[in-house]
Amino acid sequence: MSLLAEDNTKLADLGVRWVPGFSALGPAFHTSLRPTPLRSPPYWVGWSDSAARDMGLRADWRNDEILAALTGQTLLEGSAPLATVYSGHQFGVWAGQLGDGRAILLGETDTGWELQLKGAGRTPYSRMGDGRAVLRSSIREFLCSEAMHGLGIPTTRALSVTGSDAPVVREEIETASVVARAAPSFVRFGHFEHFAAANRVDELRTLADFVIDRFYPACRNSDRFGGNAYAAFLEAVSERTATLMAQWQSVGFCHGVMNTDNMSILGLTIDYGPFQFLDGFDPRHICNHSDTGGRYAYNQQPNVAYWNLFCLAQALLPLIGEQEVAVAALESYKTVFPDAFEARMRAKLGLPDAAPDDRALIEGVLKLLAQEKVDYTIFWRRLADRQAGGDPDLVRDLFVDRAGIDAWLASFAQRHAQVPAEQSARSMRGANPKFVLRNHLGQQAIEAAQRRDFSGVADLLKLLQSPFEDHAGYEAYAGFPPDWASTIEISCSS
Ligand code: AMP
Ligand code: MG
Repeated sequence: MSLLAEDNTKLADLGVRWVPGFSALGPAFHTSLRPTPLRSPPYWVGWSDSAARDMGLRADWRNDEILAALTGQTLLEGSAPLATVYSGHQFGVWAGQLGDGRAILLGETDTGWELQLKGAGRTPYSRMGDGRAVLRSSIREFLCSEAMHGLGIPTTRALSVTGSDAPVVREEIETASVVARAAPSFVRFGHFEHFAAANRVDELRTLADFVIDRFYPACRNSDRFGGNAYAAFLEAVSERTATLMAQWQSVGFCHGVMNTDNMSILGLTIDYGPFQFLDGFDPRHICNHSDTGGRYAYNQQPNVAYWNLFCLAQALLPLIGEQEVAVAALESYKTVFPDAFEARMRAKLGLPDAAPDDRALIEGVLKLLAQEKVDYTIFWRRLADRQAGGDPDLVRDLFVDRAGIDAWLASFAQRHAQVPAEQSARSMRGANPKFVLRNHLGQQAIEAAQRRDFSGVADLLKLLQSPFEDHAGYEAYAGFPPDWASTIEISCSS
């Protein structure tokens, strides 16, 4: 394929059309610019037909022209590419202006999806960065986006991950990669903080109205907070965020960089960097090698999300009016998060309804798991298998403290006395994934991809898109991590 292909590929050929979206907000919110073509021809590394289908693309959406367009070599006809401006708090400190430093928004489809290229070259918001993303982190983002979706957790999606031999300098020389991401909106808390910090209330209102009208229309007619739509909006964002945190915690997902610029206004998981699914259950686990203070440790995530919501509340204050109202709009987080978490854990336990002692049952097992850092995913899947009539010792064998687990299993059995075993076994298998994107699995796929063998990416994608299925023949992907897994160091550098 020529590096100088023409801009004549039409999105309409794929069955969807561009519609005005974020770009219509005007130049205060973005800079229009084209992606910078890669200096070496791109190739497919992985793609998600599931994401394509959800976006409404035709089944045969992949071809050389689309490859060129999804790597920034060419522009899809009618696309008005842009980089958006935002600010944010990073590691608890106001960081000032940030913005899309390496992501370029191609536009929005009439099926309601914004399409963005991450790693598409420098923008006015790149600061010291080169605007590029490397293959290893792009594969991680691609796989985890689709894995989260497979788990039923709100997330930005990934249509494709592509590679190129163009060199990119990090600690070592690596190669460039582009992830084509899709989401109904990529707006972050930091977009609001940006205009609030500069006291640009008109733009702040324009942005809030845009997001409310499209994604939170019920806030317009809400009678919460005396009909204050902006307070109702804050409350709705807070509740979506609380639900998201409950989902992360229940599957053992650590995000790693929960800065306010990485918080989606739609409550989506966004910006996959040094994330990790827990292997052994360690509540204080820190997955980001750069996070020396443990600000974003696994057990801090629900609190940090709440802290981030305070930043959002502060930013929305000029629209909400009174501080007490803004604070009141965050109040429900304190009940929505624990209730949603308990509901998720109850599902993992196969309990169809709530009982007063459930919290103790949940806390009891988490304490046992933490005591011995038992593998989180394997424990829950074995518990589901046990309920389905599998070998009961497989759960006990995970613990040195046999008396502890036996006592817990007895209370678990007692709680289950009223629930038909077949029903609970089925629901537990649907709530406890067999496959999660463990660091070492991603690492193996990455190392093969660096040798131009992309089969590992495709295999993992298949498992992660339906993580609750058994997938006979892929047991190795569901096993304990090898010893070297704990030596993998993942930081923000990507
Ligand atoms: P992150 O922590 O990855 O969400 O990134 C924080 C900020 O740094 C965002 O404004 C990114 O766009 C920007 N950034 C990260 N890496 C690069 C890069 N290689 N080139 C330009 N900007 C970057
Ligand atoms: Mg980010």
